[in-house]
Amino acid sequence: MKTRKRSKTLIDLEKLNTLNREGCPACGRKFALGELVVLACGNWEGERYIHEDEAAFDRETNAYYERRYYEKTSE
Ligand SMILES: [Zn+2]
Repeated sequence: MKTRKRSKTLIDLEKLNTLNREGCPACGRKFALGELVVLACGNWEGERYIHEDEAAFDRETNAYYERRYYEKTSE
């Protein structure tokens, strides 16, 4: 089985406490236990966890991007 470097992550208590200091940088909401998140690039420094349904996966760079950011930069 192939292991992908980029994988989806479930929010656990530890992540909840860490990430909810700032919330989701894509939509500004707080994360909830059991939600799917991915490490994504966007209109921020480096990679941040955002909700999985707000991310687009780019096969070329093998990375997730925040959707609006991705659409803007791929135009
Ligand atoms: Zn979000």
